[in-house]
Amino acid sequence: MLIVKKFGGTSVADAQRISRAALKLVTAAEKGHRVVAVVSAQGDLTDRLLEKIRAVSTDPAHRESDACVSAGEQISAALLAMAVQRLGRDAVSLTGWQAGIRTDSAFGNARIQGLTSDRIERELASGRIVIVAGFQGVDKQEDITTLGRGGSDTTAVTLAALLKADDCRIYTDVDGVYDRDPRQDPAARRYATISYGDMLALCENGAQVLHDRCVEAGWRYKIPIRVLSAFRDGPGTLVWQGPTELV
Ligand code: ASP
Ligand code: MG
Repeated sequence: MLIVKKFGGTSVADAQRISRAALKLVTAAEKGHRVVAVVSAQGDLTDRLLEKIRAVSTDPAHRESDACVSAGEQISAALLAMAVQRLGRDAVSLTGWQAGIRTDSAFGNARIQGLTSDRIERELASGRIVIVAGFQGVDKQEDITTLGRGGSDTTAVTLAALLKADDCRIYTDVDGVYDRDPRQDPAARRYATISYGDMLALCENGAQVLHDRCVEAGWRYKIPIRVLSAFRDGPGTLVWQGPTELV
C-alpha cells in the first residue's frame, strides 16, 4: 500500500514528538508499505515567522512573505527525516517545489494545480520514506507560494489523490472530529464518520481541525481522510463519502 501520513504543528513540536512521528513512519514502512509524510511547521513557528515579517515591513512583498513563512515546514521535514534515519530507515525530506507541487500565484493563499511526481516516485522506488514540507508549492515563475493557514492538510490530501495513495491519515492534537470544540466543551461528541459535506459545514462554522480546501480535495478525488490523535491510539474520525455518525 501507499500511505500518506500528515503531522500537524503540535505533533512535531519538539524532539520527542518528532521521534514519535518517525516511529509511526518506520512502523508502516516495516510492514512493507510505501510511506509519504507531510509535515507542518513546529508549534507556533509559523506565527513567529509572520511576526518577524511584520517587524520589518508593514507592507511586505507577498513573494518574500511566502518565501519566509514557508521555511517552518522545511525545518520540520528535515528534522523528521533525520529522526527516521536515526531509527535505521532511509528517508529524504523534500520542499514543496522539490516534491513537484505546482500552484497558482496567489501568494499566501495559493491553490495546488498539479504535481510533477517523478521525484517522489523515484525516492519511493528506492525504498526511502519521503517527507514533504506541507503548506507550500511553486508557481509558474518558480516562486515559492503558500497555501493559506492550515494548508498542510491540503498538501497531504492532494498528494494522496495525485499519487493514488491507498490511505490518508492526518495526525493532530485531538483524537478526531467533534461536533463542538472538545478543548472548550467537555460535552462535545466525536464523529465516528462524517461526510465531506458535513465536514465542510463544520469548517465554515470555524472548526479548525481540517483545512477546508483539504476537505474539498478529498471530496473531489474521493479520498477517505482518517483524522487521528498523534499521541493516543484510537479510531479517530473518518471523513468520507458515506453517512455521518456520532460515536
Ligand atoms: N504551518 C502552517 C500554519 O500554521 C500550515 C499548517 O500548519 O498546516 O498555518
Ligand atoms: Mg491544522
